[in-house]
Amino acid sequence: MAQVRIPGRAAAPGIARGPWAELGRPALPAARPIAATEMADEAARLRNAAKAASRELRDLAASVRDAGHADEAAIFLAQAAIARDPDVVEAAVIAIERDRIDAIGAIASAARETAARIAALDDELLRGRATDVLDVADRIGRALAGISDGPLLAAPAIVIADDLPPSVTATLPRDRVLGIALEGSSPTAHAAILARAYGIPAIVSATGLLTAARAAGSGAELAIDGSTGEAIVEPDAAERARYDGLAADAAADRERDLGEADQPARTFDGVDVLVLANIGSPDDCADALRLGARGVGLFRTEFLFLERARPPSEQEQEGAYRRVIEAFAGLPVTIRLLDVGGDKQIPYLDQPREDNPFLGVRALRLADRRPDLFITQLRACYRAAAAGPVKVMAPMIADAADAATLRTLAHEARASLERDGLPIGEVDLGVMLEIPSAILVGDSYLAQLAFASLGTNDLLQYALAVDRGNPALDRYRDPLHPALLRLIREAVESSSRAGIELSVCGEMAGDPAAALALVGLGVRQLSMSAASLAAVRRAIRGAAAPALEDAANEALRGGTAAEARARFTALLESSTADRVVPAGG
Ligand code: PEP
Ligand code: MG
Repeated sequence: MAQVRIPGRAAAPGIARGPWAELGRPALPAARPIAATEMADEAARLRNAAKAASRELRDLAASVRDAGHADEAAIFLAQAAIARDPDVVEAAVIAIERDRIDAIGAIASAARETAARIAALDDELLRGRATDVLDVADRIGRALAGISDGPLLAAPAIVIADDLPPSVTATLPRDRVLGIALEGSSPTAHAAILARAYGIPAIVSATGLLTAARAAGSGAELAIDGSTGEAIVEPDAAERARYDGLAADAAADRERDLGEADQPARTFDGVDVLVLANIGSPDDCADALRLGARGVGLFRTEFLFLERARPPSEQEQEGAYRRVIEAFAGLPVTIRLLDVGGDKQIPYLDQPREDNPFLGVRALRLADRRPDLFITQLRACYRAAAAGPVKVMAPMIADAADAATLRTLAHEARASLERDGLPIGEVDLGVMLEIPSAILVGDSYLAQLAFASLGTNDLLQYALAVDRGNPALDRYRDPLHPALLRLIREAVESSSRAGIELSVCGEMAGDPAAALALVGLGVRQLSMSAASLAAVRRAIRGAAAPALEDAANEALRGGTAAEARARFTALLESSTADRVVPAGG
């Protein structure tokens, strides 16, 4: 069969090539009618299976925590408690007697009833537990049906599936998982988050993958590129060689990047740029530090809130923030307040349906309806700040009123902690500049803050009317568009007038040519994913600030992103980094 190329979405970097193995959950058998004489045995079987499931979930939580993933462990601990909950287990025993059905049918039916009852409650937090109840009942049902839990790969393979629930992803045998390729899912789904944390190459949203792989037959080869999202089913000799080359390059690049982690990001003529890491979980700190991050410029805290039944407690959040602050031992850590809405929906928040969610109640706009979420998060930040320097920034600020909302919430959080007599540390408050209006009226509020950070991913989406996730608009998505550069220049100038720090934490900062444009525009702090740190540092070391300023001024006057891209790519290619090592660096 000819090779089939499938464009998916990048979810976790790395190259994998090998046979595929499909993982799917076998359906549970339907409820079986039973005789009255069987009822006692079925009830006992059910109670035992529930106890075993609870033990399994606790063990799973412990092994996930031991592997350094404390936040994921909390999900499984909460599920272990559900497996012991009489509301679920005893309701199933009643269903055995009432409906005369076997334990498998009874647990499924009782869970559906419990979930429906919970879903109808007034309490939003409790409503979110419905999904967990169904998940746990499914686990108990599988144990009763003798369906082995946790897919075990006999030999190393790339796991393919439509989607992977967190409990399955967490139990994959890591020594045998070469990669993960999902037909559905998204880069922010749990499967992708776990794959990144475990260093397993992964792609998602690969439409047509399952059909193509099945058509090729089991054991056929699959190649995936976790940085581009590409999958190739049955790659031909040329593609196999290309993928092997990519894998070898990636390994060599990583060695070189680690070796350069101590080098400063200083232009050839001595202008220093602070390079920081974007992280999505405390698990990302080790790699960011190994690759030379000088702090955290963006800690996306959504991971704590997504894929779970209720919001994280203040203590849980404080624990996660402290882990980052302690890992970075005195270096600045910037925690971003919850940014949900848009493409990140949280069932337990029960957000109303919106026609344009990216233009809707997203991020700090949620504070009108749920100030408690932000107060709890800010309290956790102030408490964690006792362990080291913390900056907190609010996403999706439109103007001075939004900046005031942040300050009011922070004030309330702090005052309540003082009333509670709890130890707190100092927190610098700042905002993300990712809505054009926030930049255009920056003079009206920036001076009341300590810093601002440009979120160029959203800034581009809102300034150029380009949906972030729509692949049909790729040609509009270059952040070197002069309109975006002008907004950035305005942000540099208004931050300077306000006397506050400005950084860039959108993907633009991790793109070496675009990073040079940012330095040329006057930005001195760049925050990016850890994997980009080395390339950006090299680009900066090879450049001279006056040349970057000239190029930036030209680009500001230009009409298209392509012209600016050509200009900065040329500067990058003429880089002196490999030839000259400045004194002191
Ligand atoms: C941005 O918008 O540039 C940003 C950094 O935030 P996010 O990508 O999380 O929206
Ligand atoms: Mg954003």
